[in-house]
Amino acid sequence: MFDVQRIRQDFPILSRKVNNKPLIYFDNAATSQTPKQVIDAIVDYYSNYNANIHRGVHSLSQEATDKYEEARLKIKDHFNAKHSHEIILTSGTTHGINLVAHGFGSILNSNDEVLVSALEHHSNIVPWQMLCEATGAKLKVIPMNNEGELVMTEFDKLISNKTKLVFVNHVSNALGTINPISYIIAESHKVGAAVLIDGAQACPHIKPDVQNLNVDFYVASAHKMCGPTGVGMLYGKEEWLRKLPPYQGGGEMIAEVTFEKTTYADLPHKFEAGTPNICGGIAFGAALDYMNTIGFDAIANYEHQLLKYATKKLKEIEGLKIYGISAQKTAVVSFNLEGIHPYDIGTILDKMGIAVRTGHHCAQPIMDFFKIPGTVRASFSFYNTIEEIDCLIDGVMKAKDMLS
Ligand code: PMP
Repeated sequence: MFDVQRIRQDFPILSRKVNNKPLIYFDNAATSQTPKQVIDAIVDYYSNYNANIHRGVHSLSQEATDKYEEARLKIKDHFNAKHSHEIILTSGTTHGINLVAHGFGSILNSNDEVLVSALEHHSNIVPWQMLCEATGAKLKVIPMNNEGELVMTEFDKLISNKTKLVFVNHVSNALGTINPISYIIAESHKVGAAVLIDGAQACPHIKPDVQNLNVDFYVASAHKMCGPTGVGMLYGKEEWLRKLPPYQGGGEMIAEVTFEKTTYADLPHKFEAGTPNICGGIAFGAALDYMNTIGFDAIANYEHQLLKYATKKLKEIEGLKIYGISAQKTAVVSFNLEGIHPYDIGTILDKMGIAVRTGHHCAQPIMDFFKIPGTVRASFSFYNTIEEIDCLIDGVMKAKDMLS
């Protein structure tokens, strides 16, 4: 039995009111809420052992270093990386993707091709476009269908010996589609291409096993999975991380510096220039502990029930269209009401204390595909309830009555 009422007690924000109504938070795909276990870890850091890490001889610095490196180990275990030095702590998914794209600047040339999917967040498009502009490599797009799924027969045609890199999200933030990444990784490797998986939307719902996936790079953000903003992870296979040049220069990432030549630190520090988000990294570890205590199978099962219920109820509303109807989905419903702008629905829902996202969700190519300016997106988490979904349905009906 999934005790959602008990879980909700871990999240102080869930008991606040918005516009005089109890908060109903359905913007989890943008950022998740923070349990007190993670808030406590942040307070503990700043109250008891705030210090810069890796270089200090004093006890406080040692304590902070130990806790930070412990967090790296937790991340390594969570994603089942082979080595902890394959985990680079970043400021988030965007940072991880840019780091890898920058590295491939010294590898690609104008005869090469790279493959992106039609379902990407702008973070997994723009850095690669910049890379292609700099190297002359060609960017090709795996198309999507009306259900919001990738057309894999087209992927099979696009992938060739020219393909050097493939970058696809594990789960689409705009539609919730779970992409067939195991197949994509296996087929890409057959032609010698490396694969980066953007796991920003998958990691709140799924526990990825990077060794089992045999993926080359996997990126995620802590703030989507009960952790703080401004911290995330990049997993890279050791051989790739050794091959890629450093991304940023500065303190922490060096072995020795002279004005003639600088040598770089070993992994993972080679990619971690400057003072990192120490507290954020430690809190990321606490967030993983928290989610693993609940368990990802239990989370996925429960969220699937929420998704099924919300989809059924929303479908009953006349004039409502859901975008992204793949059988393989996480708990995201993206929809529009005929003739009504998504922003107007979002504004009315907000008055009722219901937080949803409206707009293009940083995935304009998906909106262009459906020929719409945007959608209303309700994204659920394991601390949401069926009763909250009933309120959403009431709210959408009210918005429909008021606006049509
Ligand atoms: N990729 C996907 C699929 C996302 O949903 C997001 C966040 N909306 C990002 C990348 C970017 O994540 P961040 O802003 O934390 O770097």
